[in-house]
Amino acid sequence: MLDVKPASRDEISLVHHPKLVSTLERICREEAPGIIDYAPTYVTQSSFDDALLAAGGVITCSRAVLNGDANNAFAIVRPPGHHAEPDRAMGFCIFNNIAIAARDALAHGLDRVMVIDYDAHHGNGTQAAFLNDDRVAFLSAHQWGIYPGTGWLTDAPHARGRIVNVPLLAYAGDQAYEQVADQIFKPFVEAFKPQMIFVSVGFDAHWSDPITMLGLSTQGYLTLAKKVVALAEEHCGGKIVFVLEGGYDPLNVANGSEAVFIAATGKGESEARDPNPHKEPDCESRIDEVRKWHGF
Ligand SMILES: [Zn+2]
Repeated sequence: MLDVKPASRDEISLVHHPKLVSTLERICREEAPGIIDYAPTYVTQSSFDDALLAAGGVITCSRAVLNGDANNAFAIVRPPGHHAEPDRAMGFCIFNNIAIAARDALAHGLDRVMVIDYDAHHGNGTQAAFLNDDRVAFLSAHQWGIYPGTGWLTDAPHARGRIVNVPLLAYAGDQAYEQVADQIFKPFVEAFKPQMIFVSVGFDAHWSDPITMLGLSTQGYLTLAKKVVALAEEHCGGKIVFVLEGGYDPLNVANGSEAVFIAATGKGESEARDPNPHKEPDCESRIDEVRKWHGF
């Protein structure tokens, strides 16, 4: 456990435009409660301060790993962040916590960091933040065709091999994600050689999530977390920070978080208690398409 302080305005500005920050502060303090986008993103009078604290929490985890005070970390924060773009808050996200911490790591001496996002939804905000920043590689594996509507594999043709989208078919589950980890995460990390990996982990890709249609089980989440931890150990001295994003069944968030801790500490094991009851589609041709587009 680490002591956390709220992110400063300067730290938030590593990703977000100052005008967005001041507008959100005014809306939360003077006009809340209310809805600020169609997701709908609901804010209260404390939301601005909550969002500063969430971003500060991820920065604290990241610096602890960077400084060697922690081997790795898991930032369990709310509100989440991966939909928040540099100039707009959206999708239940106020500030893009993971993008801010990644930029902070760059400001503290790193040259190359990677963000891997396996929330069920496309990490449009993180993609927007790093669209033209060659120091950051971004990968999002998500269900194609749901909110926010972006995340097709050709979204960023100028950044092949650096901005990678894996638009998955509905009901893709443990088998498809394992293929994605082995056939896309692995060559991506090997090619980019990040010095630190950040993971946007959302538990809404679980088969029982009420707002998406994917097929991961808790066991699948554990396998995925173990695979990214192993990649970090092999390529960046184990430096990895998991950051909580979505998840709309609290039980899945609890079980999935336990899986992250098991993978990060190497202690404990989870039981296969919630196998996916749905049949998985074959995602091999989609995975091949992504590999070919990026030359992996
Ligand atoms: Zn999500």
